[in-house]
Amino acid sequence: MIQLKGLTKRYGTFTAVDAINLDVPHGQLFGFLGPNGAGKTTTLRMIAGILRPTAGTVHINGIDVAKDPTAAKAVLGYIPDRPFIYEKLTGAEFLRFVAGLYGQDGPVIERRMTELLTLFDLLEWRDELVESYSHGMRQKLIISSAFLHKPKVIVVDEPMVGLDPKAARILKDLFREYTKRGHTIMMSTHTLEVAETVCDRVAIIQGGRIRAAGTMDELYESVGAGAKGLEELFLRLTGENAARELVEVLDA
Ligand code: ATP
Repeated sequence: MIQLKGLTKRYGTFTAVDAINLDVPHGQLFGFLGPNGAGKTTTLRMIAGILRPTAGTVHINGIDVAKDPTAAKAVLGYIPDRPFIYEKLTGAEFLRFVAGLYGQDGPVIERRMTELLTLFDLLEWRDELVESYSHGMRQKLIISSAFLHKPKVIVVDEPMVGLDPKAARILKDLFREYTKRGHTIMMSTHTLEVAETVCDRVAIIQGGRIRAAGTMDELYESVGAGAKGLEELFLRLTGENAARELVEVLDA
């Protein structure tokens, strides 16, 4: 469960995230959408406890991230959009290293590593250095590392970027099955099809503020009749007029 109350991040006089209130209950797959620069990554980094809010609170399964960061991080898996990864470790060493951060090792972790690497077609690469991995392979390794200790809550920033169609499908199925088992996932994405097909609820953020939140049906209802497809719904909710801007660029 993730609870945000008045969550705010300012950089000088600029407000990147503006007093967000959001509840993501147990067992929900929650999509976080918004245009470039809307505040998605900033929000997710505050939830993960790696960026200090200017104001407001984050609770993960009832634990205040600011007051008890170690306890909060123990139940959390975070998949950043631009992950840092040690190039000189093999895939297996990297996963063991991450498991160690959560105080876990031994046969259970080894078995889970094998399961996750098999799922993502990486098993034969387990003993190769990460520096030889492609972008998509690194992404799959990072995703595997977040699932290793079976965290109650996963926060994931743009997980589909760089994945081939098979891996994207596997990841969507993994997210769905994981939340069906009572875990919570909050995911930012620009892939509207992913939001529509797998998320239980979504929120749309723009200019640091939540513009709309609910199920896809509720969002369609909120804009009234006539929104054809998710792309148009998104553009209406964020007040963007891509077609007009395109004509202005071409005619300038
Ligand atoms: P995208 O979809 O492009 O990844 P986003 O919704 O994840 O965008 P953020 O990365 O959260 O957006 O950025 C929100 C705003 O905060 C942007 O205007 C960005 O320029 C600004 N911002 C982020 N980090 C900093 C920083 N360290 N200093 C100043 N401004 C920042």
